Amino acid sequence: MTTTLGTASAAPGEIDTGRLEVGETRDGSPFGLPVAVINGQRSGKTLYMQAASDGDELNGVGVIQRVVPQLDPAEIAGTILIVGIVNYHAFQVAEHRNPIDDTKMNRAYPGNENGTSSERIAAATFEAATRADLILDLHQGSTSRMIDEVRVRCGKRHRLHDDCLELAKVFGCGYILDQKGPDGQLARAAPDEGIPTVDPELGGTVGWDETSIRKGVEGVFNVLTYYGFLDGDVIPESQTRARGFEQYGAPGGGLISFQKDLGERVRAGETLFELTTPFGEPKAEVTADSTGILWRTRRLPQVATGEYVCSVATDIDDY
Ligand SMILES: [Zn+2]
Repeated sequence: MTTTLGTASAAPGEIDTGRLEVGETRDGSPFGLPVAVINGQRSGKTLYMQAASDGDELNGVGVIQRVVPQLDPAEIAGTILIVGIVNYHAFQVAEHRNPIDDTKMNRAYPGNENGTSSERIAAATFEAATRADLILDLHQGSTSRMIDEVRVRCGKRHRLHDDCLELAKVFGCGYILDQKGPDGQLARAAPDEGIPTVDPELGGTVGWDETSIRKGVEGVFNVLTYYGFLDGDVIPESQTRARGFEQYGAPGGGLISFQKDLGERVRAGETLFELTTPFGEPKAEVTADSTGILWRTRRLPQVATGEYVCSVATDIDDY
């Protein structure tokens, strides 16, 4: 059976790319999101993948750009639907939020086809996503520095929690953040439709990060193999799971230096970072409230009072 997504249409054993039209730009030109359909020779499950839901998160685009040329529909069982760049307007200007409505795309799901710019894009991609049996929404920690992890956002009481956790473990970045996300996330909305969904968070960088992209490519192939799209076996490896997340802000203005490396374990009471004046005079030391792992840090050293500095993931176990 031929599978269509936007203008991409592929019969069994074929791959096609095209555009999923969602509206017009400010000059009246129609615009569409780049899409691909990989229709396997044999029948099987459907996987939906998308990248750049946040317009400055480019590692996912790097993953898809490497994965697709390696997929041979003749060797695949099932169908892979891909939206390569979701946040069209933000991607054009390398910003996080859609500049047309100043909205974060991953708060707009399941979207509204008659709504704002972001809601319409969310609705169009949600319609594609909910045709699938599994969903990967490729993100990263924006341009902050962050470890490679996979987020399960449905919450532990959700009926699909175990399925989402399994998908996160199979993807296998090494770390899982298992914490209910805010409303409007694809990884919240799609499990409500019965579809296991995770957010692989592939590091955090300006542009492309080779290590994170490689982990993402490996993760996608782990998923394709484990769920039977490709022949072979994958034995999911134990992951370090965090179920809490604490954020730290600057107690004053100045320059911060971290006392812990990203990914390093921290104990409650240990110093996370120091704050100094531009002349190196110490102003403050901030210690961890809880034991956990230094998960994410700001990129730039200069901070104003209250400005975001870092996050420590807490409540750690092996899953
Ligand atoms: Zn994101």
